[in-house]
Amino acid sequence: MELFRGQNIIDFGKVFHNDESCVAYLADLKWQDGFICKKCGHTSGCKKAGHNYHCYKCNHVESATSGTLFHRIRFGLHKAFHIVFEMVNSSKGMSSIQVGLRYGIRQPTAWTFMHKVRKAMESSKKYPLSKLVHVDEFVVGGMEEGKKGRSYNTNKTKAVVAVELSEKNQVKRVYIKAIDDYSAKSLTPIFEQHISKTAKVVTDKWKGYSPLTKEYNIEQILSANGKNFKQLHIIIHQIKSWIRTIPTHASKKHVESYFNEFTYRINRSQSKQTIFHNIIKRMMNSKPLTYHTLIQKQSV
Ligand SMILES: [Zn+2]
Repeated sequence: MELFRGQNIIDFGKVFHNDESCVAYLADLKWQDGFICKKCGHTSGCKKAGHNYHCYKCNHVESATSGTLFHRIRFGLHKAFHIVFEMVNSSKGMSSIQVGLRYGIRQPTAWTFMHKVRKAMESSKKYPLSKLVHVDEFVVGGMEEGKKGRSYNTNKTKAVVAVELSEKNQVKRVYIKAIDDYSAKSLTPIFEQHISKTAKVVTDKWKGYSPLTKEYNIEQILSANGKNFKQLHIIIHQIKSWIRTIPTHASKKHVESYFNEFTYRINRSQSKQTIFHNIIKRMMNSKPLTYHTLIQKQSV
């Protein structure tokens, strides 16, 4: 199959000009190494109309989208592909309200689909940050501090961010996790999931990091109002301003999926040519997700 490369929306529109061209792309991807029946495991079958596969042994007919995050997209794959393309290529992300208006779909439908894309943006946790890593905590959501009136404190979400820096002190990769508090227990998962034990980690003097020094090479220095963590604070500033522009309330449970979207784009800034194909592949390899499941996640 021919991979789609690049960020040019005109080229993109030429390749993916209707539902048919999109489903053909998914079918090529799904069965690029041949057909395996999901029901019986048989490997011979034939392609039917609409890019479905018909199993010769059990007569099961499988669509290109079944068993993937593209399952039951009612507004059509043409729109879905364009939304995905915009999500991975826009530097600031989009709201479900904007997407609803641009594609003529209902806002909740846009919201649900965009969360499916974010699901596929979750880190595989296979490539921990290494070399030089800066770590700090921050708070997002709610109103700006100092504003009078209603208390918005309950809307705030605490988070911890880890940034890998290059030798030239540039941001290479980033991971962010929502946390309940700043205790060592809450700070540990980002280390376990995203930071290599051989990395040189730098944090501020917060005592929550002290127990982690047993297993990780951590240097604790004064923050000096963020001056010693300049790159980290630029990232924190970007994520805060982005979350602030999301009109649909970014609930605590969902805030992590926005973190996934944000870091997915940053961590692939060197591989923009294949970023669209990469996310499509991830969506094809993820199990279907329903609106119901997403809502449950919110109310937990
Ligand atoms: Zn079969």
